[in-house]
Amino acid sequence: MSPAPPASSTGPSMSPVRTCIGCRLRDQRSALLRVVLTVAESESRPGGVASGAGVQVRPDPRCRLPGRGAWLHVSLECLDQAIRRRAFTRALRVEVPGNRLDCDLVREYLSAHTTE
Ligand SMILES: [Zn+2]
Repeated sequence: MSPAPPASSTGPSMSPVRTCIGCRLRDQRSALLRVVLTVAESESRPGGVASGAGVQVRPDPRCRLPGRGAWLHVSLECLDQAIRRRAFTRALRVEVPGNRLDCDLVREYLSAHTTE
C-alpha cells in the first residue's frame, strides 16, 4: 500500500512562476527579484568607466520600472551565473560592447538582502 501523497504538484494559479536567468530554475515570483535594463543616454559619469551607452541593470523589487525585465534569485551565486553565461544580454536583449554589463546596483541589492 502506497498512499499517494496529496502533493498538489500543480501549484495554485495565484502564485506565478518565473525562471531565474542565473540558475535557470523556476521559482515563485516572490522568491525572485525583478531586474530591468536602463539606458542613460546622456548620463556622463565624471571619471567613470565608459560602459557603452550607459547601459545598466538595476533591481526592481517593486516591479514598477518600465521596460524589459528579467528574473533572478536573491542570490549572488545566481547573479554571477547570469553574468558568466551572459544571460542578461540575452534575456534583456541588449548588446553591450565587450559584453560588459553594469550590474553593480543588482549586486549591491543582493549583498544587502542575502544573509551570507
Ligand atoms: Zn537562481
